[in-house]
Amino acid sequence: MSQLWDLPAPEAGASVRPNAAGLSRAELSELLRGMGEPAWRGKQLFAGLQRQRWTRWDQFTNLAKPLRARLEAEVALAWPKLLLSQASLDGSTKHIFEFADGRQVEGVHMPYEDRVTLCLSSQVGCAMGCTFCATGQMGIIRNLSAAEIVGQVQAMLIHHDHPLDRPINLVFMGMGEPLHNLDHLMAAFDILTDPEGLAIPPRRITVSTSGLVTGIDRLGTYPRRPRLALSLNGTTDEHRSRIMPVNRVWNLEALAQCLGRFPLQSGERITLEYVLLKGLTDSLEDGRRLASFAQHFPAKVNLIPFNPHEGVGFEPPEETRISALCKLLVDAGQPVSVRRSRGQDVGGACGQLVRAGQKPSVPKSY
Ligand code: SAH
Ligand code: SF4
Repeated sequence: MSQLWDLPAPEAGASVRPNAAGLSRAELSELLRGMGEPAWRGKQLFAGLQRQRWTRWDQFTNLAKPLRARLEAEVALAWPKLLLSQASLDGSTKHIFEFADGRQVEGVHMPYEDRVTLCLSSQVGCAMGCTFCATGQMGIIRNLSAAEIVGQVQAMLIHHDHPLDRPINLVFMGMGEPLHNLDHLMAAFDILTDPEGLAIPPRRITVSTSGLVTGIDRLGTYPRRPRLALSLNGTTDEHRSRIMPVNRVWNLEALAQCLGRFPLQSGERITLEYVLLKGLTDSLEDGRRLASFAQHFPAKVNLIPFNPHEGVGFEPPEETRISALCKLLVDAGQPVSVRRSRGQDVGGACGQLVRAGQKPSVPKSY
């Protein structure tokens, strides 16, 4: 798996023009300084991109024409294309994004009364091969760049005409293993949390991992970082290894130790996601083991009934079993919630829409 750390993203090549969409305020200032402009021009550019949501250089009417022309020639401004947007009956909208090389990923816009939650992808495909997951069946194709991660957010905000003062939560629970793409993820994090951009508070951003211990340890070294969610999904090494091959590298014991040393802030909890597969991971014994695993560190448990899709032989749990497991965890003093996959009528959990190979209806570029 080691080569995955170096999986390229598109702008990694030295010969390509920098893409302003994936540059931080400091990087834009540096770029502008290199063009003989004062550094504050970089701040202007950053605000135009991230707050005004300008997507073409000709929209930057606050810049002199010759500078705009130079930017047009020397600096790319490429956001992902929104290929397909499918609204679900529950209010969420599933989006397919297409990048310059034709690769596609999914994102979901989920409005709530007091906020909007955006589910983002971090890779095209995924190397982890979890047997219950549609993305896992695709294999890994490539990492996303910072511009492609930030671009998913901006494309959804533009599409939904999101007012700047409405709180945004981000969850990296779409396609891909975010900790396999930590450099680009953290570059995107810096842009998205910048007070002169969208200014999303770090505590409103959650990264979900299948349990890459070295990646979790590395994430813990960042003074400003997103919150952590771990996809546990099994309470014995035998069951977890069967559905999540990563467990053969880092087993439950290694995970418990890793999460126990993760440097949490006061009041912060690690989310333990637990996909319920009927007859495999949903017994009351599983519930008891889950409660005891969660006692190693401040945790909140998120039970996720399996979202069925073609080609895998798993089934969702009975409703009565979900309630029984919930009660068991509550009785054990464990904070717990049940996540109903939103957008089930339009393709369910992330990875299922792209994998279904649906053709775009009305392509939208912006
Ligand atoms: N790769 C990361 C993040 C993306 S997957 C990770 O595995 O954590 C996000 C979540 O969706 C994970 O908790 C995963 O276990 C869950 N998931 C994947 N396929 C699912 C399905 N068909 N039904 C329900 N949850 C699923
Ligand atoms: Fe990858 Fe997460 Fe799916 Fe596993 S569950 S294959 S880690 S996207």
